Amino acid sequence: MCVFCKIVNNEIPCFKIHETSNTLAFLDISQVTKGHTLVIPKKHYQDLLSLTPDIAKEIAEATLEVTNILKTKLGVTNFNLLNNSGSLAGQEVPHFHMHILPRYENDGISFSKPHKPADMAELKKLYENIAK
Ligand code: AMP
Repeated sequence: MCVFCKIVNNEIPCFKIHETSNTLAFLDISQVTKGHTLVIPKKHYQDLLSLTPDIAKEIAEATLEVTNILKTKLGVTNFNLLNNSGSLAGQEVPHFHMHILPRYENDGISFSKPHKPADMAELKKLYENIAK
């Protein structure tokens, strides 16, 4: 049984901050920033592609509720939402989880994005492959 299923089954403890019939949210054991929280489905879904539309909606709603709890309790208004889906994306626990990362002034976290415009011909080819 995976570590998050054990948390759902109360076999290992967590700092629970939100719960619905199908989702659970608890503090991440390694706080990247203060209030770093994970939202999980109670049922074991391995990753993003395993989710059903219904549980995806419930996770999204729970995520929104947790951000509002963090806003109320910690006063934070800036967040990153992050899901690592698959080992190449850095997923370590094979049970879907949404990271909620509260962001603070000068917190030292950086998600660098390339700002170089793509080659337009390549972009068009890619678009046609995806969208048509
Ligand atoms: P990921 O790399 O996206 O799979 O992230 C897994 C996250 O789960 C990491 O941020 C861990 O710190 C967190 N984690 C692992 N075990 C526990 C646990 N028992 N309680 C809370 N968080 C955990």
